[in-house]
This record gives sequence, C-alpha cells and structure tokens, in this order.
Amino acid sequence: MCILVWFRLDLRLRDNPALAAAFRASKAASSTVIPIFCWSPDEEVPWSPGAASRWWFHYSLEGLSQSLSQKGSRLIIRQGKTLSVLQALIRETKATGVYWNRRYEPVVIKRDKHIKEVLRKEGIDVQSFNSHLLFEPWMIQTQAKKPFQVFTPFWKTCLSSQEPESPLSAPSTFPPVSSTIASQSIDSLHLLPTIPWDTQLKEMWAPGEVGALKQADLFLEEALEPYATDRDFPSVKGTSRLSPHLHFGEISPRFLWETLQKLLATRSRKRSIQGVERYLTELGWREFAYHLLYHFPHTTEEPLRPHFKQFPWVQNKKQLKAWQKGLTGYPLVDAGMRELWAVGWMHNRVRMITASFLVKDLLISWQEGAKWFWDTLVDADLASNTLGWQWVSGCGADAAPYFRIFNPSLQAERFDANANYSRCWIPELSTPAYPSPIVNHGEVRIRALTALQTISKKGDIQ
Ligand SMILES: Cc1cc2nc3c(=O)[nH]c(=O)nc-3n(C[C@H](O)[C@H](O)[C@H](O)COP(=O)(O)OP(=O)(O)OC[C@H]3O[C@@H](n4cnc5c(N)ncnc54)[C@H](O)[C@@H]3O)c2cc1C
Repeated sequence: MCILVWFRLDLRLRDNPALAAAFRASKAASSTVIPIFCWSPDEEVPWSPGAASRWWFHYSLEGLSQSLSQKGSRLIIRQGKTLSVLQALIRETKATGVYWNRRYEPVVIKRDKHIKEVLRKEGIDVQSFNSHLLFEPWMIQTQAKKPFQVFTPFWKTCLSSQEPESPLSAPSTFPPVSSTIASQSIDSLHLLPTIPWDTQLKEMWAPGEVGALKQADLFLEEALEPYATDRDFPSVKGTSRLSPHLHFGEISPRFLWETLQKLLATRSRKRSIQGVERYLTELGWREFAYHLLYHFPHTTEEPLRPHFKQFPWVQNKKQLKAWQKGLTGYPLVDAGMRELWAVGWMHNRVRMITASFLVKDLLISWQEGAKWFWDTLVDADLASNTLGWQWVSGCGADAAPYFRIFNPSLQAERFDANANYSRCWIPELSTPAYPSPIVNHGEVRIRALTALQTISKKGDIQ
C-alpha cells in the first residue's frame, strides 16, 4: 500500500503540502510514499515548456532526485500520457492515493480535473493542495463577488484576508522505494539542447531547491534593503532573481512571505522597511497574474480588453528577427534581448522596454513577443508572461495605457545612464559594427498612436 506524490511545478521538499499530507496519511495507514514525476509536454500545448524551461527542468529534476536519494527515497520518472502513467504506477505499486499540488494553467486544470474524476471513480484517494500561491485565486473577490481587474484593490484585499499558512518543514527521512519499480533516467527525457547554447545559463543559474535557498539568502542579505530603489537599474544586481525558482516551485511563496513578515516586525530603518514592502508588492503582482489567469483563461491568446482584437498589428518578419536577435540599433532594447538569449532571463524594466518596442515601435503583436519570451525565458510562466505582455500592450488588466509609449533612448538615459548594462551585452556598441536604428522612434510613435485611434473610437480606450 502506498501514496503516490506527483511532483509538477513544486520541485521541492520543504513546504510541499502534497508531500506533507501524503506523509500524514501514510503514517496513519502504515503505508509508504513514492515520489513520481511524469514528463508529458504534449498535454500542455500550445504552452508546453520552451527550450529554456526544459533546460531548467533537467537540472531541477536532478536536484530533486538527489535530495530524495539523500533522504533514502527515489524519484520515479516516467514519460507518456499522464493518466495512463498514473494508472500503471497505481497497479504496479498498489497505491491507494495520488496527491499533488495544484497548477492554474487552463489546459492543465482541464487535464487534472479529468484525471481526478477518473481515478476517484476507480476508488483512488485523490487530493490536491496549494503550494504555489499565497492566496488561491477564488478566495479573493471584489465586494460584488467578482474577480479583480485592478491590482491595488486586489492586493489590499489579499493583505486584509486570512494570513497564508506557515511553511511546512521537509520530511527528515523517506521510506525506501522498492527497486522493482522502474524509473526512466532524466537524460532519457532529452531536455537539454543538442547544440550547446547553454554555457552562460550554467554559469548564472543553480536550478533546484538548494540553489533557490542560496539565492534567497544572498538576496535577503545583500539586495533587499535597497531593493525599492535599486530594482529599476539593470546594471545593478538589485532584484532577487528568484523568478525561475518560484516558477518551478523550488522555493515557496509562503516561505518568502513569512521571512519578510518577520523582517518587517523587527526592522525599524525606513529604507529597510521600504525594501521589504516593495518586495511583498512584487510577490503580489505574481498573485495577481495567477488571479487573472484563473478567472480569464482566454487571455493567454486574446486581449482581456476585447477591442484590442481589432488592433492593426503588422507582420514584419525582418523586424521581428532584428528584435529577437538584439539588432534594432536601440542599445537598451538590444542589450535586453541579448541578455535574454544568453542567460534566459531579463531585468524587469528591460522586459517592459523591449516589449514596448515590439508592440509600439514595430507594431508587432504582443502574442509574437509572448511566444518568444516563452521559449527563451528560464522563468517563462504563463500567468506572469501573459500579464506582462498585456500590461505593456495596454490591452490587459490595470495595464499601462497604449498611448504611453516608452522612448527607448530616454529610458536608457534614465536607467542605464553610463551604459554599463548596454556595454555588457553589446561588445560592439560605439563601433561601426553596431547597427543603426531600424526605425525612427519619433515617426513610429505617431504611427502607433494613429493605429490606436482606429480602435479607440469603438469606445474601450480613453
Ligand atoms: C513583458 C513581460 C513578460 C514577463 N514574463 C514573465 C514570466 O514569464 N515569468 C515571470 O516570472 N515574470 C515575468 N515578468 C515579470 C517580471 O519581469 C519578472 O518576474 C522579474 O523580472 C523576475 O526577476 P526577479 O525574480 O529578480 O524579480 P524581483 O524584482 O526580485 O521580484 C520578486 C518576484 O516577484 C514576482 N514578480 C516581480 N514582478 C512581477 C510582475 N511584473 N509580474 C508578475 N510577477 C512579478 C516574480 O515572481 C519575482 O521573482 C514579465 C514582465 C514583463 C514586462
């Protein structure tokens, strides 16, 4: 008799509610716990993990597998149709239960509901838990019992609702997993690239729970205090860089929440309090992104503000390529796009500037940009990516109005004044090898505003 714990985007042992519940239930019934992972990217189409995410998965699974081995267990890895894989494992292990932590992407919700129904009909104890969020999307509502579409009241409501529960500790030891239960190797999933483009990713990141905790310690120690001001300057290591760790569930938001609340209670210096509060607000944006994804699942493909469906986007493969490769002739845009290509991550301010350049200077649709980010970001996250792109395009919830158009050169003067960041990613900057601007910002700004006029008459946008 045993309980299967199905790991998904919760690749950690600490504060893992499904794992903790399985341990409780297995103790009560004198059964055992078997950790499993199933690779089934086809079930997440059109948002199956991109190349950078697959890279991260490989190493994160290695980390999880190692941690489990150190505690006497073994991660069972299988590939295939998830329901069939689970049914096979239930037969092989005589499992009586399957526990997992919830995910919120529309196709995944649909799949998981189906799996739950089928397994429950087969007499299996199926339970799901919240490991990924501070507040479940359905717990937070407006007074009219509707989902929020504006961040500030959303976050105020979160802050005044019931505190998230305290994080759970990791089990100290695990029961052994019988050697008769076969597992595929991580290598057999072919998650790593065949052409080695990942050298700089390896230098920058340490995927897995151990790496996540180290990164959190480093941030709390060195960058949290000045976070409120430093977070806007891409040449400074002023942000936590925890986004991929949070996406893959290697660190829990409840752990960060509790740590920050303790700091708030003990710190008296204004700067330090501002840093903590600002960081909590950013975690709030992450919550808001999931709230929107859950309540408006169509927004992964379509604008939340329906009038934007008529926006006259332009198709221009040459300019799209120039943007993707960081060859637009606008240094801050190019530096950001090259950083993304090299290390699978980009600073938040630069994400806003590069995204704005695509949708406003080039008039290329936000969906094209979202797809490129999806494939190249190690933190590619359907909720945050959709929110980010719709926010920049002015077509989402609480979005920056489309008519507010970033001037990439002025942004560079403000946030990269001595061009340290741009020079770091564009070695040929200030040499004839660097391209001239592919568009004239002043001219394309007017083109963008004219394009906006064609839809604003229909009443949605002021
Ligand atoms: C066009 C665009 C696309 C984006 N795509 C993604 C994405 O795919 N995945 C992703 O995690 N973030 C995305 N973001 C949000 C943000 O840029 C990143 O979360 C942030 O840069 C990650 O760096 P950090 O961990 O150092 O952030 P920190 O400043 O340290 O913030 C702490 C945490 O708060 C969360 N957070 C911060 N800002 C936001 C935000 N605006 N929206 C949602 N959550 C936020 C992240 O989980 C982050 O790790 C996108 C933003 C834009 C403008």
